[in-house]
Amino acid sequence: MIAHNLEELYKELPQGVRLVAVSKFHPISELLEAYAMGQRAFGENRPQEMAAKAVQMPQDVEWHFIGHLQTNKLKLVLPYAYIVESVDSVHLLDAIEGWAGLHDRTVRVLLEVHIGAEETKQGFSDSEVLQLLSAAGEYHHIVFCGLMGMASHTDDEEAVAADFARIKALFDRCSESFPQLGDFRQLSIGMSDDWRIAVRYGSTEVRIGTAIFGPRSY
Ligand SMILES: *Cc1c(COP(=O)(O)O)cnc(C)c1O
Repeated sequence: MIAHNLEELYKELPQGVRLVAVSKFHPISELLEAYAMGQRAFGENRPQEMAAKAVQMPQDVEWHFIGHLQTNKLKLVLPYAYIVESVDSVHLLDAIEGWAGLHDRTVRVLLEVHIGAEETKQGFSDSEVLQLLSAAGEYHHIVFCGLMGMASHTDDEEAVAADFARIKALFDRCSESFPQLGDFRQLSIGMSDDWRIAVRYGSTEVRIGTAIFGPRSY
């Protein structure tokens, strides 16, 4: 099933859109099935779980951390993460910069933008993103790679499209305003239920769990 689901996605995803297989709550055996299909980018949202999986999976897996990250959990995530997609506060960014400086590392991040309506308060506003990027030069150990966002949780495709259009506009504005940020290229939008819409709005990376691994049992 996993192999079949991945094959379909590989076929349908346009060139230039990366697939992150969101494997949270799924066992290593299922990640290995995806790995055998050539999948290398995996997404996890719990520090302990990601750290445990990272030491069990092959070394060339690219771990995308996509969950809320508390600063006291950095040491579980940053040694393994290829990128932290869910930076949602200056406090967290400062803590990552501190950890990276201490360990002589650089850390790739996406800024999580608050686009969806009600349900999540997580993420930066447009003006906060612009302000933060104007100070990007002060973060010597952080590579700003782009934006991440989640659309409103609704069946209303127009509402979802409007959310994606908003984050795409912000993404373009950032790219224009800060050309010196050469790595600012990723727009991580789109999940199992809305990735086709996200792709229409310029997604460069979709994060798909359920449509690959099936439903999660929490
Ligand atoms: C769980 C999760 C996903 C994947 O969701 P699906 O609907 O299962 O595809 C994507 N992004 C984030 C941030 C998540 O937490």
